Amino acid sequence: MDYFIDCDRCHTAVRVTPLDTRQHRSKICDNCGAELVFANHELQEWRILVVFRCHNPKCAALEKPQELPITRTALRKMSQPGSEDKFMCSTCREQFPLSDQEKANNLRMLDEEEARAKAS
Ligand SMILES: [Zn+2]
Ligand SMILES: [Zn+2]
Repeated sequence: MDYFIDCDRCHTAVRVTPLDTRQHRSKICDNCGAELVFANHELQEWRILVVFRCHNPKCAALEKPQELPITRTALRKMSQPGSEDKFMCSTCREQFPLSDQEKANNLRMLDEEEARAKAS
């Protein structure tokens, strides 16, 4: 699983892989060149982008794909059967629950990804 550190200087999310933490003690921010020492920073879970479409007929972003950043942990939680967590449209702020099919697809995608990560 990948992580990120919020750069102190420019507040970019700097991606950190498990290999980085094993082989190095710090990572250089690509954006501003600051050295981020792992011992002094919280590793936060890297967010993946999931595609969401707004179904509000009055919304300017109706049915346009929007990419929402979310952690795998949060996506798995909201994809459990019976979960009532919702995605929010960034344009109209309306919230939409996931369909059962979307939940099943998300869980399958997460499971496959984990299986691949273990195999490599
Ligand atoms: Zn930076
Ligand atoms: Zn909308």
